[in-house]
Amino acid sequence: MLNVKTLAEVNRIITKRFDGIRMGCEQVPLENALGRVLGKDISATEYVPDFNRSTVDGYAVIAADVFGCSDAIPALLALSGESKMGVHTGIRLEKGQCGYVPTGAEIPHGADAVVMLEFAEEIEAGTIAIYRPCAPGTNLIYRGDDVKPGEIVIPAGHRLTAAEIGALAALGIAGVPVVRPPRVALISTGDELVPLNEPLTMGKIRDVNAPMLVTALRNAGGETKSCGIIKDEEAAIREGIQKAIQDCDLLILTGGTSVGVKDTISGIIEELGELIVHGIAVKPGKPTILGAIQEKPVFGLPGNPVAAYFMFHMLVQPLLFSMQGTTLTEFKEIVPLARSISSNHGREEFIPVRMKDGTAHPIASKSGLITTLSAADGFIRVPRDCEGLKQGEAVEVTYFRR
Ligand code: AMP
Ligand code: MG
Repeated sequence: MLNVKTLAEVNRIITKRFDGIRMGCEQVPLENALGRVLGKDISATEYVPDFNRSTVDGYAVIAADVFGCSDAIPALLALSGESKMGVHTGIRLEKGQCGYVPTGAEIPHGADAVVMLEFAEEIEAGTIAIYRPCAPGTNLIYRGDDVKPGEIVIPAGHRLTAAEIGALAALGIAGVPVVRPPRVALISTGDELVPLNEPLTMGKIRDVNAPMLVTALRNAGGETKSCGIIKDEEAAIREGIQKAIQDCDLLILTGGTSVGVKDTISGIIEELGELIVHGIAVKPGKPTILGAIQEKPVFGLPGNPVAAYFMFHMLVQPLLFSMQGTTLTEFKEIVPLARSISSNHGREEFIPVRMKDGTAHPIASKSGLITTLSAADGFIRVPRDCEGLKQGEAVEVTYFRR
């Protein structure tokens, strides 16, 4: 018999026990940093932009000189020169003067606004008529408007996006400190399992969990080493664990976590380290194991791929994020349930759903059918003390990460 705990209790145990595990940093070139977690705060050492810059093609002016001008009574200004792209301007405006500036070029010293070309006209050589007034600051960006030296541009723990890589490029940052990915070792156990590259014989099934979890782990920032399939033989599994634990930060086993005669995982973990949890009051996923070997977290996930996936999602993924000094943002939405469902197992239940016309359609499933997951957009939770949910009831859908 399993001495089950609730999912919330197990998550608290994981936090308390493994919260101190943090991956170190490594430096990577900026172009390779997409999706990586920033290891340290990035502060600016430069102004962005580094000079007062026009945002339009037009004439840089002193706003006070064009106050009250109109189509009927234009302000007439003397053209004192032209700013060039990429060149520091030497022009200094005096009262009654203007300077031509293209978009993005430095405005002349003394100018405090730019009038768009459409509202100006060179009425004779060197004389510009301005037909619209403008307030100081119009159509320009001042030095440091975007970023000033010392400002934290992106904080540690942030998973870098392409836009943020652009922001770092603007600051002249060519390399960034990112968190080293947690190394995860993965072992599938079961006499019935066949790897993808071998023919299937009667009675055997394909190892679904390894490819599924390798990719899910990668999606969560982990670097995964698949240690292959090990048969349900105690000595072989013990040896496999002892080997795998040496060069990983976290170990996952799937299969053999129940209490059958061939289910030896819990005993081996207890022998090699510590068995912390065996059994969680959830469906699917009851025969789940949490342990520690050499102070490293060890998960024994159920062989049933749907259960393995949910337990990965609920337990492993949050820990992986915490090891990287970051947190997971889940996308959730409250929507009506498309049809009633019953649930009276005394366990918290996760039900895959497909979204259609703004409602959540529960996917009926027999235990372990992988297509119940692959057809789902996300899942809903039914609390353990709830006997079911009614059609039309508001439910919270958690979307799977794509
Ligand atoms: P177990 O947790 O070993 O009792 O396995 C539960 C169910 O999941 C059994 O039907 C197994 O055949 C199946 N199973 C175990 N491991 C895998 C795997 N890696 N891929 C697909 N199915 C599996
Ligand atoms: Mg088995």
